[in-house]
Amino acid sequence: IKRKRLSINEYVEGILQGNTVVLSRAITIIESSLDTDQFLAEEVLKQVLPNTGVSKRMGITGVPGVGKSTFIEAMGMYLVENGHKLAVLAVDPSSQRSRGSILGDKTRMEQLSHHPNAYIRPSATGSSLGGVANKTRETMLLCEAAGYEIIFIETVGVGQSEVAVKGMVDFFLLLMLAGAGDELQGIKKGIMEMADAIAITKADQDNIKASKKAKVEYQNALHLFPPTNTGWTPQVLTCSAITNEGLEDIWKMIEDYYQHIGNELESIRKHQSINWMHETIGYLLKQNFYNAPQVAEKIADFERKVGMGQITPQAAARELMDLAKQKNGDS
Ligand code: GDP
Repeated sequence: IKRKRLSINEYVEGILQGNTVVLSRAITIIESSLDTDQFLAEEVLKQVLPNTGVSKRMGITGVPGVGKSTFIEAMGMYLVENGHKLAVLAVDPSSQRSRGSILGDKTRMEQLSHHPNAYIRPSATGSSLGGVANKTRETMLLCEAAGYEIIFIETVGVGQSEVAVKGMVDFFLLLMLAGAGDELQGIKKGIMEMADAIAITKADQDNIKASKKAKVEYQNALHLFPPTNTGWTPQVLTCSAITNEGLEDIWKMIEDYYQHIGNELESIRKHQSINWMHETIGYLLKQNFYNAPQVAEKIADFERKVGMGQITPQAAARELMDLAKQKNGDS
C-alpha cells in the first residue's frame, strides 16, 4: 500500500510530540534518494533544528563479536529503566553487502527494542560512507527533536566509519576483548587514539582475571597517546553484559566526562558542524562529478588508460575534471 506523504507540519508536529510512527516515516524520507523527499527532509530538519542539540551523543565501536549489541542491550536497559529515553542508530556502509549486519536484525536487542523508552533504527544503506553517515547524522537530529536524550551510534570498527562517527558524537567508546593480543592493538591504533574510553567486554566467569590484566595493558597503551584536546584522560573499564557488572561505572564515567567538558561542549559541536559542512561539500562535489553523464561515459576509458600506463593518474583526473566542467558551463 502506498501511503500518502505527510505534510511538513505533520512531520514536524509528530516528531516534536515524540510520535515514533511519524519519526520513522520522517527517517525514511531522509533515507530516500528522491529529490522531492530530499526537499521535504531538509524542510523538516530546518524546522526541528531549534529542538536539537540537547542529547548526549555517543559513538560505540568494536570488532564483530566483541559484544556490541549485547552491550547496547544491557547498557540500554539500564538507562531506560532509569527513566532515560534512548535512540540506537548505526553507521554501517557494508550492510548492503552483508544484508543488514548490525541493526537490521532487531532480535539482537530483543528486550530493548520492545521498551517504550527505546527507539532502535536499522542502519541506512548506501554505496558511499559519506551518504550513509550524513543520513545517520540527520536521523540523530530527528531523534533528539523527538525527545531521545541519549543517542548511541554503533559502528563495526573497521576504520572509515569510526572517523565519520567521531565527527558527530560527544563521546567515543571503544569495546575491546581481553587477551586479543598486540596484533589487534596494532590494527586498532588509529581507533584507539580516537577513543574517550575503552571498555573491556565479557569480564565475567573465567574471563575476569584476563580482563583486569587487559585493563592495565590498555591503560598503559593509552598513556602513550597525546592527551585529547579537551584535557580528558581516556579511561579503561571492564564490564559484563551478562552480569551487568561495570555498566553503571561506565555510565558514571560518561557523566563525569560531560562535567569535565562543561561549556566546551558547545564549541566542540560548533566545530563538528563546520567540519561536517566541509565534508558534505566534498561528498556532494564528488557525487555530482561521478553522476555527470560525460564523466560516467568516459570513466572506464580513463581507468583502462591509467591501468595500462598510457596516461598518468593526475592527468587523467584533470582531463575528467575538465570534461565535467565544460558540460556544466554549457547548461
Ligand atoms: P557484536 O558482533 O559486537 O555485536 O557482538 P554480540 O553482541 O553479538 O556478541 C558476540 C557474542 O559474545 C555473543 O555470543 C554474545 O552472547 C557474547 N557476549 C556478549 N557480551 C558478553 C558478555 O558480557 N559476557 C559473555 N560471557 N559473553 C558475551
